[in-house]
Amino acid sequence: MDYQPIVGLEIHVELNTKSKMFCSCGNNPNAVIPNSEICPICMGHPGVLPVINEEAVKKTIKTGLALNCQIPKCSKFDRKNYFYPDLPKGYQISQLYQPLCKKGFLEIDSKKIRIREVHLEEDVGRLKHEKDYSLVDFNRAGIPLMELVTEPDLNSAKEARKFAEELQLILRYLDVSDADMEKGQLRVEANISLGEKGKLGTKVEIKNLNSFRAVEKSIDYEIERQTRILKAGKKVIQETRGWLDEATASSRRVAGARVVDELRSSSRVAGARVDDVRGATVSQREKEYAHDYRYFPEPDLPPLHFEKEEIEKIRAEIPELPQQKRERFKREYELDGKSIEVFVQNKELGEYFEKVVSEFEPRLSKEKLSKVIKLATNYLITDLQGLLKGASVSDKNFLITPENFAEFINLIAEEKISSKIAKIVLEEMFKTGADPSHIIQEKGLSLITDEKKVEKVIQKVVAENQKAVSDFKKGKGTALQFLIGQVMAKTKGKAHPEIVKNLLTKILKELK
Ligand SMILES: [Zn+2]
Repeated sequence: MDYQPIVGLEIHVELNTKSKMFCSCGNNPNAVIPNSEICPICMGHPGVLPVINEEAVKKTIKTGLALNCQIPKCSKFDRKNYFYPDLPKGYQISQLYQPLCKKGFLEIDSKKIRIREVHLEEDVGRLKHEKDYSLVDFNRAGIPLMELVTEPDLNSAKEARKFAEELQLILRYLDVSDADMEKGQLRVEANISLGEKGKLGTKVEIKNLNSFRAVEKSIDYEIERQTRILKAGKKVIQETRGWLDEATASSRRVAGARVVDELRSSSRVAGARVDDVRGATVSQREKEYAHDYRYFPEPDLPPLHFEKEEIEKIRAEIPELPQQKRERFKREYELDGKSIEVFVQNKELGEYFEKVVSEFEPRLSKEKLSKVIKLATNYLITDLQGLLKGASVSDKNFLITPENFAEFINLIAEEKISSKIAKIVLEEMFKTGADPSHIIQEKGLSLITDEKKVEKVIQKVVAENQKAVSDFKKGKGTALQFLIGQVMAKTKGKAHPEIVKNLLTKILKELK
């Protein structure tokens, strides 16, 4: 029997608003002092009244629009009631019945993944577990939290990972969240079932996936686990499971003998340490249902109504999105897929690239323009990124202006400097921000194009390398390359390579 994996995702995103969802406390992910960003409202004291954060609502709608969602005319908040130490109010304000955004989709490799809804709620506090006691920090409690729910349209772990990665990129382009998974600003939960003959199977939910790797590994693990159960003629239990990998194993609160056993058996290595096993999902609790939470409409908040003009105003603020950018870069610059992806993922570098291109002479022939664009792409992606070592071109200490970078590329294209010299010039530009022509002049780096000067060096090299010369006469092709290398070394890379090659060949042929 063949089982079809069916995966749906629930993704929580902390919005980067100035203040919290229902009070004026700061939304400061870098606050270091616990419980410094709290007030009676986010602490749920009796008699306080929450006020809806307009910026959070707009950012959620913006996200919904970018994901092709419908924005209903009316939206409401509800109370989700449960007790947990990280939830000071004893309930969480969320949206069950009338979310802000509905029925959208995101295309992943030309496949439409439907989005059921995007709604807005508030985050909970953080618990810190010590040996004999636990601590709670409420700085995070009340931070605007956007939840996105997909339909079960994904069919593999890879697809689910791609969806989450593309969503992160979109959130960053929209500037609605930093979406840093390590910081818990983007948290993924996956629902996995194995379908048979087009039917859905029993759904298992995996919680707390805090890296893209964990998303992919845990889904793969779960597909394998459920397949094993079904093949043995048993039933999959509907439950919530947690993912343990090397990152979460050490910080997880339910660590214990049983967990370690599961991890060990999953790695099939007896005596494996928790941090070098490949990870496993472990049972946490049986799945809860909406009715377990006694949802009811939030009485302290008015319903939200939207006019068409308001929605259109938000839509107009949506910038070019990653997929549009991919298509435009292909159309306008004819770059290869890999380079395009670098410029799409590294937005600042992509923007810098476009500024450099705009500095090229517009009257260049199509062929020449295509040449300088390719050169600029290569030098930005390999050499400049190498010098940046992970820093951004939008940093203040980055000194190379797009104008100077374009000039640098022109010098290479016009063969005024060799690729070897180019590296030296670029390093100097990176250090000082100086004009490339200026650097070349100052350091005497321009190519030697004077044939007489080159010939002198060649005569010397020929005299000193008689063996290579006789190898050349015997027809050994590598000998020529060797001799060219010697000439280049003697001129410190400054001899014009074409001239060297032509002159050397001529001189060698004339030798008897
Ligand atoms: Zn507050």
